[in-house]
Amino acid sequence: MARPAVVLLSGGLDSTTTLAIARSLGYECHALSFEYGQRHERELASARRVAAALGAARHLTLRIDLGAIGGSALTADIPVPKGRSAEDIAHGVPVTYVPARNTIFLSHALAWAEVLGAADIFIGVNVLDASGYPDCRPEYIAAFEHLANLATRAGVEGRSRFRVHAPLIDLGKAGIIRRGLELGVDFALTWSCYAPEPDGRACGLCDACQLRKKGFAEAGLPDPGSGFAI
Ligand SMILES: [Zn+2]
Repeated sequence: MARPAVVLLSGGLDSTTTLAIARSLGYECHALSFEYGQRHERELASARRVAAALGAARHLTLRIDLGAIGGSALTADIPVPKGRSAEDIAHGVPVTYVPARNTIFLSHALAWAEVLGAADIFIGVNVLDASGYPDCRPEYIAAFEHLANLATRAGVEGRSRFRVHAPLIDLGKAGIIRRGLELGVDFALTWSCYAPEPDGRACGLCDACQLRKKGFAEAGLPDPGSGFAI
């Protein structure tokens, strides 16, 4: 029987490729998304489509109101930066950082994994994220894995040895896109933009749009865009 795993799924390129990798490793994938007060829900529509296309055994979307806490351009009334240079994007913690988001997300993934009897959790953090987001660094992932084994009944009773897999950790965007395509991912289902236009199109200028464009350009491939209207 396939081993169960919990896969964090935002509906973007990275988490979609991560789900495809988990599936290719033979896991029965339980995809987990969050309606956390982000500025737009388009990415959740993508997450639903991706979960279905990649055969997730189940897809849960949990609601957590991080908008009540705020503190980020993604959850509060703070403008999303547009048109930043590649150099600016590569340095410092951007205002799109959501306080402790990956700890919040991984904690929920851990809770679900414990209930499912799953020892494996997948998250799509990578080297590009890690340059600006402290909760995307390899040492953070290792620390959370340590915590997971201390913090749970399954961990202390020795029933599970939790592992947090970050299979994209050394990959840039072009490498992630190539890996996804090898695994048959349809990137037209994915969504990256932080701040869509009123008509629903990707803005093309936020950090996420720019990194996506650069990734497809470096991979020498056209971006299929988003193939559906919400
Ligand atoms: Zn954008």
